[in-house]
Amino acid sequence: MLETRCLKLKEMIKMKFNSVLIANRGEIALRIMRACRFLGLKTIAVYSEADKQLAHVQMADTALCIGPPNPGDSYLSRDSILVAAKLTGAQAVHPGYGFLSEDSLFSQAVQGAGLTFVGPSADAIDRIGDKIRAKQVMAKAGVPCVPGSEDMIPDDIGECKKIADQVGFPLMIKAVSGGGGRGMRIVRQPKDLVNAILVTRQEAANAFGRSDVYMERFLEHPRHIEIQVLADTFGNAIWLGARDCSMQRRHQKLIEETPPPHIPQDLIATLGEQCANACKKINYIGAGTFEFLYEDGQFYFIEMNTRLQVEHPVTEMVTGIDIVVEQLTIAQGDPLSVTQEEIRPTGHAIECRINAEHPWKFLPSPGRIKKWYSPGGPGVRVDSHLYENYNIPPNYDSLIAKLITLGSDRNDALNRMKAALNEMQIEGIDTTIALQKALIQDPDFQKGGIDIHYLDHWLENKRNRP
Ligand code: ADP
Repeated sequence: MLETRCLKLKEMIKMKFNSVLIANRGEIALRIMRACRFLGLKTIAVYSEADKQLAHVQMADTALCIGPPNPGDSYLSRDSILVAAKLTGAQAVHPGYGFLSEDSLFSQAVQGAGLTFVGPSADAIDRIGDKIRAKQVMAKAGVPCVPGSEDMIPDDIGECKKIADQVGFPLMIKAVSGGGGRGMRIVRQPKDLVNAILVTRQEAANAFGRSDVYMERFLEHPRHIEIQVLADTFGNAIWLGARDCSMQRRHQKLIEETPPPHIPQDLIATLGEQCANACKKINYIGAGTFEFLYEDGQFYFIEMNTRLQVEHPVTEMVTGIDIVVEQLTIAQGDPLSVTQEEIRPTGHAIECRINAEHPWKFLPSPGRIKKWYSPGGPGVRVDSHLYENYNIPPNYDSLIAKLITLGSDRNDALNRMKAALNEMQIEGIDTTIALQKALIQDPDFQKGGIDIHYLDHWLENKRNRP
């Protein structure tokens, strides 16, 4: 299905750029490279001194070292990447996820240099990347939001206390520019409010260069449900189903699936329509994800990510749409390859993130891969940059592979995942495969519908067991 659609797409499109610089590393750089190659685009890899051995660096048409291992001096350096684009004659830049993918100054600088940024405009990133502005925009566009302060909270402590009383306890202090599960704190009682504000402000200033925070009601047992959207320059916007990403450790996702179990399809369809309409109202262009918390039958918007998500493959598996190809063709100024009516998700897909970490202690485990055996067979997809003898550097995110399975229903997808996890072999480092095996067989997860706090409690119980 994916192949046929993509072939049709390939015939239809006329490329307006023919080379893409991939401003990222690891599995996502390889994923983007595959989409570029499919479209016949030349690929340019940029890499740090620690990353010369990366698979996509070896495969790229052109590869250029952009600096030392420290991300601040390489993958996060706008100037280095722009110089690399100039030196290599790149015509477009795909930022992947993380690093500079949601940096409006980068989007602006790329466009300012006469290149195409494969992502939204600087203005859209600014409007939506600022979480409180995004909530204001979404509320106006008719999307339901988590109750909270209407704006960022002032410095005046008395005022903050008044706002907190209105929001109600427990509440969360969240950094306006927070991301990656960082820059947020739960406050259960009024006496802890002031300290929590000060600490979160400080953390936010250090991590994101901005200390502004806002308040939000803390939901006690929500699920994390998100809607994938695609929007083109012709005013078309579509939604591609919903993902359930509730299996999280410390706000970091570990397992994602689509469709979300036990949520009525009509509720999701209404939400999806609201998201697609919001894209039209705010003139959003590109791929994006609306993130919601779902509790007691209600959805509450928390944020929108203006980029490709790690978990995009589950959506691709059930819809047959190559989201990265769509990103590239949208950036070329082409219309979406499908209409909303043509999207008919089929089956159920699950993704397990495999990290180079100890499965129970979560200590990072960089090092040399002594053995790599990747599972296969019907309905199994592995997105990974690993190969035997590859040496995982200690400087970056620990995600080393995404194992995705597709089944005719959830049970099939789970059975395939179980078999695929048993087949996958990685030796030389610690990985989270053992944790994923346990989670896939956990009776509550198998029932479907666990909340976002489930895994943290599960791990705590496991630690306390003799
Ligand atoms: P980030 O941009 O860092 O990913 P989000 O706002 O998307 O931050 O929140 C990340 C995670 O934190 C959510 O998936 C959820 O687990 C938890 N979370 C965020 N807001 C709330 C809230 N109001 N109540 C309960 N949990 C929340």
